[in-house]
Amino acid sequence: MSDALFELLQDLVSIPSVNPMGRDVSGDIYYEGRMTEYLENWFADLAGSGVEFQRNTLEEGRDNIAAVLPGSCSWDDGGRVIMLEAHQDTVPVDGMTVEPFSPVIRDGKMYGRGSCDIKGGMACMLTAFKRFVETPPADRPTVVMACTVNEEFGMSGAAKLCDLWLEDQWIPQPDAIIVAEPTLLDVVVAHKGVTRFEIEVAGVACHSSQPELGKNAIYRMAKIIQILEQYANDVVGTLNEHPLVTNPTLNVGMIQGGISVNTVPDRCSIEVGRRTSPSEVPDEAYQHILDYVRQHLADEDWADQVTFHPPTISCGGLSDQFNGEFATYVQGVVQAAGHPGLRIGVPYGTDAQAFSLHQIPTVVLGPGSIDQAHTKDEWIELDQLTAAAELYYQLLTNFGA
Ligand SMILES: [Zn+2]
Repeated sequence: MSDALFELLQDLVSIPSVNPMGRDVSGDIYYEGRMTEYLENWFADLAGSGVEFQRNTLEEGRDNIAAVLPGSCSWDDGGRVIMLEAHQDTVPVDGMTVEPFSPVIRDGKMYGRGSCDIKGGMACMLTAFKRFVETPPADRPTVVMACTVNEEFGMSGAAKLCDLWLEDQWIPQPDAIIVAEPTLLDVVVAHKGVTRFEIEVAGVACHSSQPELGKNAIYRMAKIIQILEQYANDVVGTLNEHPLVTNPTLNVGMIQGGISVNTVPDRCSIEVGRRTSPSEVPDEAYQHILDYVRQHLADEDWADQVTFHPPTISCGGLSDQFNGEFATYVQGVVQAAGHPGLRIGVPYGTDAQAFSLHQIPTVVLGPGSIDQAHTKDEWIELDQLTAAAELYYQLLTNFGA
């Protein structure tokens, strides 16, 4: 089994599916199209065993793809449904010190972009799905294998995937979902969400030899940044604390303003990121920041010159409010195989948030460590892959009809 698994992962890594991450770039390494095509052919080979598959388009050239093997009890008659989910995209390859798309196996590890995040996990899920399809247990759930686009820059693919049951009714809403991310085979039951947005302030431009004739937008923004720093230090950490993740945070990550050193700037903007607790609603977190800044600017005669742009990204977290029973099941299977299977929370976001939003019991579980994701020499241990493929298979077969 392992050789086929490693070969499959080598195939996946050698097909570039780089997410442009909002940058204005072009070239044939970008977007998920070739990966989706590979997966479509892969699922087509299983069609003779009763597997159906469908693309679900996010935007031109960017398709989720999902395959389904109906269970022994029809979902209309109350049969259970479990979904495995992995994203097709990777982060960019700038600055990598290993060949990103020519995967090399060395010292029990495979190197290459996506080997860890998350083509490794995807290869394990596909392998488990295929094994399940080829030797289906008598009492089996309906199994869905879904591969989404655009996880790394907004997770819009996972949100779109929900159309398959909410809009198209092609498949039923899953009773449980396992999302692949590198968790070292621990069971992630909670993670943070995020909201990102821009704040802009206007001023009045003039020649810098007579600055009193203008209004300096950068000075104005400096005041706003001080308010945000105070908010970050004194307020945000106290909001909606959660026992499994570190406290919510705020960061001002980008600043732009001015046109030349001898001109009083008439515009300055910043980009703000706020990591939310698993139980927070990102839009409410955004509003809370706006209210705080506005209140602290109330005495400024330029307060009406500040524009708070709507969030460019607004994703909730994974809440452990809905996944308790399923997490216990997953932990049982993982621990029975001899792994620690710790029940943990993590600070990063995943596609799981899109399913948590619909209150579907969802956990994140996958091979490899997040420490090797997005790195310049990204790698994964082969032993983790073999173990994960076996665990996913066990989780499907033991789930029940
Ligand atoms: Zn990932």
